[in-house]
Amino acid sequence: MRIGVVAVQGAFLEHEIALGRLGVHCIELRQKKDVLQSYDAIILPGGESTVQGKLLKELDMFEIIQSQINDGMPVLGTCAGMILLAEHISNDSREYFKTLPVTVRRNAYGRQLGSFHIKHTFASFGEIPMTFIRAPYIESADPNVQILAKVDEKIVAVQYLNQIALSFHPELDNDTSVYERFIKQITKSQSLQLK
Ligand code: GLN
Repeated sequence: MRIGVVAVQGAFLEHEIALGRLGVHCIELRQKKDVLQSYDAIILPGGESTVQGKLLKELDMFEIIQSQINDGMPVLGTCAGMILLAEHISNDSREYFKTLPVTVRRNAYGRQLGSFHIKHTFASFGEIPMTFIRAPYIESADPNVQILAKVDEKIVAVQYLNQIALSFHPELDNDTSVYERFIKQITKSQSLQLK
């Protein structure tokens, strides 16, 4: 299994280290030739969605990644990555992949509560640590979107088909639940391809 981690800006290295601990090999997607290689899944890391979106377009990587997601490649978007996946951004007119039928709000917790750390239930895993940094949350989601975590009535983790999106940063904590779920999903999608 090889995971392509988008590495144009933001916290990509932390994902690579976390996955490396689980024995998963990552490659960095920095330029067009990288997204033409073969890999089994994509990570869109946290960082600054506006910068990442702009760079991916300028580097001619955007449409290729968008097609890979539309074709069913498993993708994990964290924080800025969630914003890039969202169909709508309620407080920004910019548009990115639009593959995830949700409306997100950028910097949704405001300036004062910009960053915080909690423990909260995630899917069937029980409580896991969640680190939020100038995070978005999901204001509304299509009924087909599965909600994996809600904190204070706000949706902070979802899955829709091949896409998992999180408001928080699993790469900054030692808990591996999110990666385990993602790896299971990749394995499932690989076995479906073999059939
Ligand atoms: N506020 C950032 C954005 O809008 C996201 C923050 C993060 O990824 N930690 O892109």
